[in-house]
Amino acid sequence: MKTLIIAIDGPVGSGKSTLARRVAELLGYVYVDTGAMYRALAFKALRNDLTLDGHDAELVALARATRIDLRAEDGTQRVFLDHDDVTTAIRTPEVSQAASKIAVNPGVRQVLVAEQRRAGEQGGVVMEGRDIGSVVFPDAQLKIFLTASPETRAERRWREHQQKGDHIDLQRTLEEIRERDRRDLQRSTSPLVRAADAVVVDSTAMEPEEVARLVVLLAKDKSSAQPG
Ligand code: C5P
Repeated sequence: MKTLIIAIDGPVGSGKSTLARRVAELLGYVYVDTGAMYRALAFKALRNDLTLDGHDAELVALARATRIDLRAEDGTQRVFLDHDDVTTAIRTPEVSQAASKIAVNPGVRQVLVAEQRRAGEQGGVVMEGRDIGSVVFPDAQLKIFLTASPETRAERRWREHQQKGDHIDLQRTLEEIRERDRRDLQRSTSPLVRAADAVVVDSTAMEPEEVARLVVLLAKDKSSAQPG
């Protein structure tokens, strides 16, 4: 069976990570979470007290001088920033907001998109983010645009934090999601858009496993239709 590039895009909390990880597992593909790259860089920018808004050249220089590695270990993805494990540290609400701010910077995006293309060009990859089907791999053989209502997305994010023992406010989570949605949709470089050839899946009323099985079926269909 031919190996594909599977692009999964969608807004905050739509279930992209869970879906991408599960589909990669079921197909034996590599999973790449591009949001983790924006988060790792934002974490470093916060640590260095850099200004996050605007088109600051300092942020681009930081992106060029930074090494981000995503490694699969025991069924999870670990994130390394300049060789340090930052997997947990990049999941705070503060880093979420910072990542969405630096993601507006076109120079930063250019550096990270080049990395993402290198990571996926061989195929056999499930890559998730905001611009995978539209910018990173516009020729991906399968594109999924995953959505869910903002309330459902906020509740999922809130539940994830509760399970980790972080007691965050649900209403505040919903506001933060709306704010990140706004930034992702309105930025001029690579806004969150649905690629014209993407399959739209609304996960509001679907179980994660159901969504994963659906995407695997679509992948098998595409894969058998590939020449060679
Ligand atoms: O997916 P996640 O919420 O971890 O991503 C963190 C932030 O990085 C998002 O809010 C978004 O602004 C940005 N991002 C992006 N393009 C991607 C992946 C993430 O702009 N491909």
